[in-house]
Amino acid sequence: MKTAIVIGAGGFIGSHVANRLKADGYWVRGVDLKAPEFASTACDEFFIGDCRNPQVVDFIIDQKVDQVFQLAADMGGIGYIGNVDNDADVMTNSAKINLNVADAACRQGVEQVFFSSSACVYNEYNQVDPQNPDCREDTAYPAHPDTEYGWEKLFSERLYLSYNRQYGMRNRIARFHNIFGEHGTWRGGKEKAPAAICRKVAMASEGGEIEVWGDGLQTRSFLHIDDCVEGIMRLMNSDFEGPVNIGSDYLISINDLVLMVSGIADKTITIKHIDGPQGVRGRNSNNDLIREKLNWVPTQDLHAGLTKTYNWIAQQVKAANEKI
Ligand code: NAD
Repeated sequence: MKTAIVIGAGGFIGSHVANRLKADGYWVRGVDLKAPEFASTACDEFFIGDCRNPQVVDFIIDQKVDQVFQLAADMGGIGYIGNVDNDADVMTNSAKINLNVADAACRQGVEQVFFSSSACVYNEYNQVDPQNPDCREDTAYPAHPDTEYGWEKLFSERLYLSYNRQYGMRNRIARFHNIFGEHGTWRGGKEKAPAAICRKVAMASEGGEIEVWGDGLQTRSFLHIDDCVEGIMRLMNSDFEGPVNIGSDYLISINDLVLMVSGIADKTITIKHIDGPQGVRGRNSNNDLIREKLNWVPTQDLHAGLTKTYNWIAQQVKAANEKI
């Protein structure tokens, strides 16, 4: 039986990865600061623990498992990572987790750690044209990410790759571009744009108004969680080291994203543009490398993924209202 440890198994992507590993027949141990919020864990063993503490990580990675999936980070949407009041926490917390995980995995003889990097590593000067952002993997250097979150990810990419060179590990690195889906954070300040828009539309009445940060002409691409998990598994089971983008290359403005969600909800909604953090002007996944190396492309279009996610968030909103 293959064995795996999932760091951040209580989070959005980590809990989906744990589900997939179990479905693939792995024995799975998970750790997180919290249990998964929306379903019980699929892990055979699940521990609550703070991976900034090296003793906790030594306890969790106490044997030579086949694979470690490192999905824990101090992160949130642009409202969180774009707020300078969180800068030191974002850098310190995530860097400590990665230093501890790389070190413990190496000492135990684990050959492979998957590291979840981000599109936020890309140089902000390549993302000023909303219709033509350049996020090919080799454009990350010379480096100029627009947030400290992106700088920490670059540091940790280099950290895991340095273990490959010095200790012969086979660590794998993916740069995720806006992953969304069911069981993701949908309120509280750490949610990302698709979840926030689904929540606002679900809460609005027919003919109502929702707020959007900025002019809404900023562009992004969004990938459903199921395609993300498939990309992670292919990368881990391949000879390709990365870093490689895992994202969708379907570019959409935030205004059009609102239109799409309102259509799914069958509501007419108007947008009120307000000041707020927006991040870079445009960002899109370039999938040339992952297509070539892993033969991976997204299998679901944005509308299909958003429909599932909207329906799930609308249920959460309804359940939360019923509790009041
Ligand atoms: P998430 O916030 O749902 O999951 C992260 C988990 O890490 C949380 O459950 C959190 O409790 C846990 N965690 C934080 N600090 C910890 C600590 N000290 N000890 C133990 N656990 C701790 O976020 P996610 O969307 O599932 O993201 C997973 C990974 O993917 C992160 O590394 C994130 O930076 C990266 N990523 C995500 C996206 C995205 O669109 N969701 C995009 C780019 C990169």
